[in-house]
Amino acid sequence: MLDVERIRADFPILSRSMNGHPLVYLDSAATSQKPRAVIDALVRYYETINANVHRGVYRLAEEATREYEAARTKVAAFVGAPSPMGVVFVRNATEGINLVARAWGDRNLREGDEIIVTAMEHHSNLVPWHLLARRTGARVRAVGITEDGRLDLAGLDVLLNERTRLVAVSHVSNVLGTINPVAEIARRAHAAGAAVLVDGAQSVPHMPVDVAALGADFLAFSGHKMLGPTGVGVLVVRPDRYEEMDPFLGGGEMIREVTLTSSTYADPPWRFEAGTPNIAGVIALGAAVDYLRAVGMDAVADHDRTLGAVARRRLSEVHGLRLLGPSPGPDATGGIATFTMGGAHPHDIAQALDGRGIAVRAGHHCCQPLMARLGLAATTRASFYLYNTASEVEALASALDEVARTYAPRPAVPVASGPAPAAAEVPDDDLFREVVLDHYMHPSGREALPGPAVEWHGRNPLCGDEVTLRLTTEEGRISGLQVVGHGCSISVASGSMLAERLKGRTLEEARRLLRGVKAMFHGDPLPDDLDMGDLTALQGVRDLPVRVKCALLAWTTLEEALDAPSSPEDHHGHSHP
Ligand code: PMP
Repeated sequence: MLDVERIRADFPILSRSMNGHPLVYLDSAATSQKPRAVIDALVRYYETINANVHRGVYRLAEEATREYEAARTKVAAFVGAPSPMGVVFVRNATEGINLVARAWGDRNLREGDEIIVTAMEHHSNLVPWHLLARRTGARVRAVGITEDGRLDLAGLDVLLNERTRLVAVSHVSNVLGTINPVAEIARRAHAAGAAVLVDGAQSVPHMPVDVAALGADFLAFSGHKMLGPTGVGVLVVRPDRYEEMDPFLGGGEMIREVTLTSSTYADPPWRFEAGTPNIAGVIALGAAVDYLRAVGMDAVADHDRTLGAVARRRLSEVHGLRLLGPSPGPDATGGIATFTMGGAHPHDIAQALDGRGIAVRAGHHCCQPLMARLGLAATTRASFYLYNTASEVEALASALDEVARTYAPRPAVPVASGPAPAAAEVPDDDLFREVVLDHYMHPSGREALPGPAVEWHGRNPLCGDEVTLRLTTEEGRISGLQVVGHGCSISVASGSMLAERLKGRTLEEARRLLRGVKAMFHGDPLPDDLDMGDLTALQGVRDLPVRVKCALLAWTTLEEALDAPSSPEDHHGHSHP
């Protein structure tokens, strides 16, 4: 059992308040908070031993080099690498994976070869393989997932063949929390003659990981998710794979001898650490490893599982909430609780929680293929770490109870004359003023147009929100306007207001209102005499760039329609992609 109160005292940021509430940080899967020991290691480096490593012939440089290399030894022991020489310091997990794609992939893959990934990979473990496939003519294939969020291992056997060069798989899914059976996958991949890369971004910070026991040829992870600073990550390479790798980035540090026209290279791992590394970051990552080892990775994993079980039990009581992924156990960490909620969009949920000091992640979590597989545009994710408590989980759940009440179906109420809503039902956040909610629940402009119309689509890739505008015009006037699509309360309400305001107006009036809306969101003065009406209810989003995109979605789509060479003035009943 962890002494969580003692641990919390080590994390200065946890005593912050946020929007008038104690900060409840539930986004450690994105990045973890840092204990005082890690912050102190950064400061101590700069205050007492700052010098470049591996170069200076003076005491200070030796001290810096010794500490830098000591961190390599600590990291190697932490993940069971047979030797510190197997540890390459990079910027983050993403860079580690890209390094393998370049240094190993370019040399070993050719046209017709295959790379196997899975349907639950983070974009970091997909895009480098897409790029490698483009460079070499290789092909990327994907193992699917089962309905309960596990990998379809039988599918792996179907895909593995003599052309498979690499299987790239995450150890723990950053959306589902699934712990993939990497050792078994590696066994099957090796039997087929393929190498194995494990994305350990979500496992190394949360559970004991032994790279040798996993049988991984490459293991990539990020320091910032395991209490370390940003800007430092690790690629662990099985030593015999170094022989199959070419240098990637060239420059100082990674060479043995250089002439004007050629060079020879240092031994690995330094061969893959070109230029001055993030010395302070690496040393502070060493301090993070010390901290985690002192706590014990078994205890960290236990704590995640316990909190995850509490969270699943309590969150499943929230009306309309549906949890994704398997329950905590041998094949699922408890550290990740991702969910959807009936009528409430993830952006709206995250924003309502933020109003209560609770930080969660909303969106596609850099897993668009997984979202597509699940038939979702976005989800909300709470993620836990060693400093989180059961009472924070309860704070999350009771805030979600309130969100569920806010977004429960309700009759349309004319805002001006309707009864004042009960205080408990309305979040104190300005963005969710009743007028926005009413537009969201009962949007205007949905009715189909009788005939053909000019059609424009807009999409916000961050959250998958979509809008389609259909317009008909007669003599410079918008005679018909339909706004359809799906999204958060802000984007739907904004589209609904657009429909109400512009139907029957001239194209010139539409342009004027568009200028006003953009000015409002950018904090610029409004055009003279422009009455913004209901739209003023949206102005609170001005300070939140992500939400400004939501609010502008319908309007930027309108702008494209108005600015297009074949603008609605010229065409009637024409359809655009
Ligand atoms: N893989 C997984 C599973 C992740 O969760 C993340 C971070 N969200 C990454 C890779 C990429 O990590 P980074 O951005 O630190 O490179």
